[in-house]
Amino acid sequence: MFERETKCVQSGYNPKSGEPRVLPIYQSTTFSYDSPEDMAALFDLKAEGFFYTRLGNPTVDALEKKIADLDGGVGAMGTASGMSATLITVANLCHAGDNIISTATVYGGTYNLFSTTIAKLGIECRFVDPCVSREELESKIDDKTKLFFCETIANCAMNVANFEMFSDVCKKHGVVFAVDNTLATPVICRPLEHGANVVVYASTKYLDGHATSVGGIIVDGGNFSFLGNKRYPDFNEPDESYHGLVYAKDCGKAGFIVKARAQYMRDFGAQMAPMNAFLTFLGSETLHLRMPRHSENALLVAEMLKKNSNVEWVKYAGLKDDENYPLVQKYFDGGMASGMVTFGIKGGRAGAIRFQKALRLFRIVTHIADARSCVLHPASTTHRQLSDSDLKACGISDNLIRLSVGIENPKDILADLENALKEAEKGN
Ligand SMILES: *Cc1c(COP(=O)(O)O)cnc(C)c1O
Repeated sequence: MFERETKCVQSGYNPKSGEPRVLPIYQSTTFSYDSPEDMAALFDLKAEGFFYTRLGNPTVDALEKKIADLDGGVGAMGTASGMSATLITVANLCHAGDNIISTATVYGGTYNLFSTTIAKLGIECRFVDPCVSREELESKIDDKTKLFFCETIANCAMNVANFEMFSDVCKKHGVVFAVDNTLATPVICRPLEHGANVVVYASTKYLDGHATSVGGIIVDGGNFSFLGNKRYPDFNEPDESYHGLVYAKDCGKAGFIVKARAQYMRDFGAQMAPMNAFLTFLGSETLHLRMPRHSENALLVAEMLKKNSNVEWVKYAGLKDDENYPLVQKYFDGGMASGMVTFGIKGGRAGAIRFQKALRLFRIVTHIADARSCVLHPASTTHRQLSDSDLKACGISDNLIRLSVGIENPKDILADLENALKEAEKGN
């Protein structure tokens, strides 16, 4: 109903007369009822309301409503972290013996989850190059394939998802298409408009935007027909652990997210804390102001790096000569390409270390998407556990520097980087 900017500021919480103007933090594990019948109706999913914060909390609910609204989904669920959002998405679709397909350039934590941890649970991940051909992608699908997964902008390989081809293939085979939209946010891209069925976020990143709260969100597009789809018996057979509910039939379009909550939030207990939901909700009120500024500053940084003598290569999808630029124009609002830039510094690992030590404004942190500029050298930090060949498959070289460009004055940002590049070059 409202424009995107208005939704960022206002959606999700609508106080009634006399209620607090600002979303309250419902710091309560439980909710009180006058009669046992009132509470029984909630447990039977016959009435809407809250009974226990693991399964729902009004502060978390407001954030869920806002993000679902921004993405155009039918429902959403907050989780303890981005990782748990992805884990629950996989668990909601797969049993031991099933498989998923993912682009190989996903976030390092997600790569570990898919390559190692879900394998221990009997779920195989088939990795594909983000530039995979339609034929190769289709050849990976069999009758046990339950999910195709990719990132809108890959952290930190920087490739942009080929939504049209991916969603075509998924539709043709009746496979759920889930996208991690953490780096783009709904201000830059809405994957559901490009054929995705489920969107996941590390709300830890831009949705919060101030580096206060680890959290995740799953958004259900309500646009996948589970009903009668033989690939997904769990959605079509009665859930004996939940009153015989048939998710594909009894939950309108929201079967995916109702099942995720009723089964996996109930049993895994990876809920978002009310305090974190409050801080993320507050942060998201300026998302529409921050994303353009992050994108503008990052473009200036990428252009400067391209010309710098101590830089081997630069990856930023917003650069006109970047191989992903056509996809940016096709799928992203206003040519925005978010705030993350990667580049290869001359002098290998040693050059990367000299560079980081000479920075003043950019702080060394294991984080991105903060209003404050920050820097990371993945090969020696977040991706330390990966072998050289795994690193290569993720598109990460040992001289790769990941910048998360903040919303400070671009003059200060550029000066800090140029100075550190000059200092680092002295050691070459
Ligand atoms: C950080 C990140 C995650 C994981 O989120 P956590 O909140 O740290 O668990 C997942 N995907 C992407 C793209 C990320 O950047």
